[in-house]
Amino acid sequence: MLDRFPNMPVFEPGWVWLVGAGPGDPGLLTLLAAHALSSADVVIYDALVGEGVLELAGEDMKLIYSGKRGGKPSPKQRDISLRLIELARAGKRVLRLKGGDPFVFGRGGEEALALVNAGIDFRVVPGISAGIGGLAYAGIPLTHRDTNSAVTFVTGHNASGFVPDSVDWSAVAKGSDAIVVYMPMKHISKITTMLMAAGRDALEPAALVSKATTPNQRTLVSTLGSISEEAGIADIEPPAMFVLGRVVELREGLNWLGALSGVDLQPDPLGNKRLEDSA
Ligand code: SAH
Repeated sequence: MLDRFPNMPVFEPGWVWLVGAGPGDPGLLTLLAAHALSSADVVIYDALVGEGVLELAGEDMKLIYSGKRGGKPSPKQRDISLRLIELARAGKRVLRLKGGDPFVFGRGGEEALALVNAGIDFRVVPGISAGIGGLAYAGIPLTHRDTNSAVTFVTGHNASGFVPDSVDWSAVAKGSDAIVVYMPMKHISKITTMLMAAGRDALEPAALVSKATTPNQRTLVSTLGSISEEAGIADIEPPAMFVLGRVVELREGLNWLGALSGVDLQPDPLGNKRLEDSA
């Protein structure tokens, strides 16, 4: 397959490729990511990189895990960047593989800047972010002309583990109908409470999509006011995406993955005629 793309850039020794692995399903890798996986010498990967993706790595390739394991603290960001630099200086083709897109809440920017400072050549390969592709696998589009023309991406967790104080939740609540929160689980109760305090309706549709695009994907559809409690009851596990807004209602019609296993789809979940009108 890759032979049909003869103009792929050569993965040169001494280079670092900062590559997005997508949300989990190996089918969501880009061609450049697949190319990197077949030509790197060493892969440094994060916890969120799908197992199926790593299986595509060449047999001789060295795989180095850089995420959290067994409750031990994760390696410091500085140590990871130093490792990348060290390996590149040793003449390796270094594939830095990150879940989703490396530049979306993934610290890819920090690593790339460390490479710049060290004078290391690098390339960035974007990936499908969980907030986009993951929600698509749950049948939730980010925009729809009957519901919203803007969407906000926000993180529910920062480096020190708190809901980021730097986020103006009141502005987020007012800024767009659709709000997508990465890393929502730890503070889901606080986040939903803050959004309601800022004026969002407790009855608005909301969803959590856990382990999206993997065989263990689970989706919980609820309301802003109830989802935090229901997530506990349903034992929704991270990694998960939280999404708020009328786009969630479209899932009734667009849950294509569910339809594959027999769920009936509703042709007009918003209950209007727009879909027919716009033939
Ligand atoms: N760079 C990544 C995001 C890293 S932040 C991207 O672009 O997708 C980590 C958060 O991403 C997780 O806490 C979760 O909110 C989300 N995430 C990543 N993979 C996911 C998946 N398969 N299913 C649901 N959420 C996922």
